[in-house]
Amino acid sequence: MSRKYVLKFSGLSNNLHEFEYTVGGDLFKDFDCEEILDADLLVKLSLEKSERQLELSFEIQGKISVLCDRCGDDMDLNLNFERKLYVRFGEKFEEQDVELYIIPFNESSIDLAPFIYEYVTLEKPMRCVHGETEGNNQTCDSEVVNILETKIEKEQEIDSRWEALKNLKF
Ligand SMILES: [Zn+2]
Repeated sequence: MSRKYVLKFSGLSNNLHEFEYTVGGDLFKDFDCEEILDADLLVKLSLEKSERQLELSFEIQGKISVLCDRCGDDMDLNLNFERKLYVRFGEKFEEQDVELYIIPFNESSIDLAPFIYEYVTLEKPMRCVHGETEGNNQTCDSEVVNILETKIEKEQEIDSRWEALKNLKF
């Protein structure tokens, strides 16, 4: 696992701090994610550090590469979204809810990789289709679409022949 996304907060003043991370396909490979083939994202992070908590505001922009559910070809998806995470201190690591994470008192850093990974995979729509899914304006691989359409036409033809047969009186 890469240490690239480890945020060391000890030593930082109780104040606002800003960080930037570039996220490539390697993050998704680290998590054995098969649905995101590649990524080119910029994560802007604002950290508001105070005595009792860390308030992390993520701004995630850029694109990911996924497979089209219709033609099976690669497609880019533009993403632009924000997430919030509060980190507080407690006895042990605990994800209390989507926005609240507890870490032990003696911790001095937090690995943001699993959070960024989760935010991006959850942001990816369940169904991705060229030109139909928000964030994409490409078109499907025309050869594959032609094959699919011919197949559907043939099936409809067969169906209508069956209908005709059913109507025959023996
Ligand atoms: Zn497609």
